[in-house]
Order: sequence, then structure tokens, then C-alpha cells
Amino acid sequence: MDRKLTGSIEGGGTKFVCAAIDQDNQILAETRVATTTPEETLGACLDFFRQQESLLGKLSALGIACFGPLDAHRGSPTYGQILATPKAGWAFADVVSVFERGLGIPIGFDTDVNGAALAESIWGAGKGLSDLVYFTIGTGVGGGALVNGEILHGLMHPEMGHVRLPRIEGDEGFAGACPFHGDCFEGLASGPAMKARWGVPAETLEQGHPAWELEASYIALALQGVICTLAPQRIILGGGVMSADFLFPMIREKTLKYLNGYIRSVLILDEIEEYIVPPGLGTRSGIFGGKALGERAHS
Ligand code: ZN
Repeated sequence: MDRKLTGSIEGGGTKFVCAAIDQDNQILAETRVATTTPEETLGACLDFFRQQESLLGKLSALGIACFGPLDAHRGSPTYGQILATPKAGWAFADVVSVFERGLGIPIGFDTDVNGAALAESIWGAGKGLSDLVYFTIGTGVGGGALVNGEILHGLMHPEMGHVRLPRIEGDEGFAGACPFHGDCFEGLASGPAMKARWGVPAETLEQGHPAWELEASYIALALQGVICTLAPQRIILGGGVMSADFLFPMIREKTLKYLNGYIRSVLILDEIEEYIVPPGLGTRSGIFGGKALGERAHS
């Protein structure tokens, strides 16, 4: 079988990861580019793919799983652009056209979390499922969803990290860390929110610290909301904060508590360990998300 190469970008606020991946999911080349200005960062990504094409052969497509908010609606005047981000210089940066012009191949473009949700449904912890939600809980909080096998879009992509959550008793004094909303999900439960509340980075807080009880409670409240809203068949939790894997049993228990027996699915009542799970692709959900978006754009 001829080699089929797909380019992938996982675009984040601190770095862009670029990879050339074959049909067997072998990563043949990979690089990391610091997120500075759009011109510099996207230019360096384009150079990488041009170089790989000269070494490995033509890419069939490129997928970009990117931080948002962004416009993923083909046909929209701002399609392919990052929208109102607080990240300096990136508001209305035109990401897709750089690669469309530079590579002349089909380009897939969506949020990092929608890409990760799609990749997890093809190769990861949601294999074979048509309805799932992927959350990243780290520097920011975001959620992507697959509904009836399709990435969920509507008005725009979902912004599940910015829903408001009820306050846990005793946490009322914390203002929250979201620049737009203060105490939304991201404002209460992202890595920076934990650092702002406790004065030290989340990864230095030991298991058993009250920070984790509170963190698990806010995450469980958000999951209770998304279960009642989208009825996913599985919820996958990734991102830096979730590398504290002792959070999983705490979140499962609290999600059951908040649902309070209302959702009668056996998936939740009897198989919660398989219902709220870590990513099957580990920390690579994003880069394979880019690949999955590229493959969809090509087919
Ligand atoms: Zn917010």
C-alpha cells in the first residue's frame, strides 16, 4: 500500500505542534513552534510542512486543531480565523489561508477539543461511539462534542469551559480567573484558577489537599450539566490538571451524587468507571485530532 501522509497541527496558546503522520498513525516527523506572532508561528509551521513534503512526499491533507474561539464554518466571511481571543496579536488571525495558499491541499480546521473528541472516537477511548464529549482541563478549560457521529457546531463551536457553575460552599470569596466571566467553569477550575486560589501551581498540591475535593466538585457539576444537555455515551477528560489521576474516582463519585439517580442509564449507574475516562490517546489526542480533521477534509 502506498504511503498516505496527513499533516497535523495542534495549535495552542504556548506552542504549535506540527506532525506528518502516515495511514498507520506513525508520526514520521514532528516539531514544536513557540506561539509568538501569527506571521512568525504560522510561517514556521508552513516551512516545516514544505520541508517534510520534500523529504517524505506530498501531504494528502492538513488538519488544524486549534485554540479558540475560532470560525470553523466553511463559507463564513471569517472562516479559518481565530476570533476574539485575549491572546495578543491573534484576534482575527487568518490561520487556514496561510496553509491553503502555501500547500494547496484540503485543510480541516476546528477547535483543539473538537479535534480531540473526533480522534478519541476513531482511535481512542471513545472508539465506535457516535456521541461523546471531550474536555481539556488545564491552562484553559474547553469541551468538544461528537453528536450522531458529527462534530457539534451550531451558532459556533461549543464553549463548554465558559458555562457558569453554582459555587461550592466555602469558595464564595474567590473571584475566579476567567478574563471574560470571572467565575465560569474555566475561571473556577483551570490550572491558573487553582494557582490563583491556593497560591501555588496545581501540580505541587498533594493528593488529599482540599484543593482537589473542590476541583473534583466543580468538574462534576460541569459533567452533570453536559450529561443532562447532550446525553453523551462517554466523557473523556484530558489536559494538565487531569494528569492528577486520583481525580477520576472523585469526579465519578461526585457526578453520581449530583445526578442523584435521575439519569437511569446503566452506563452511568453501573459502569461509571467506563463512562468518565482518561483519553485513550494520552497526551496525543490533540495531534491526532489534527490528523482526523485533515482526513475528514480530504474525504
Ligand atoms: Zn469564562
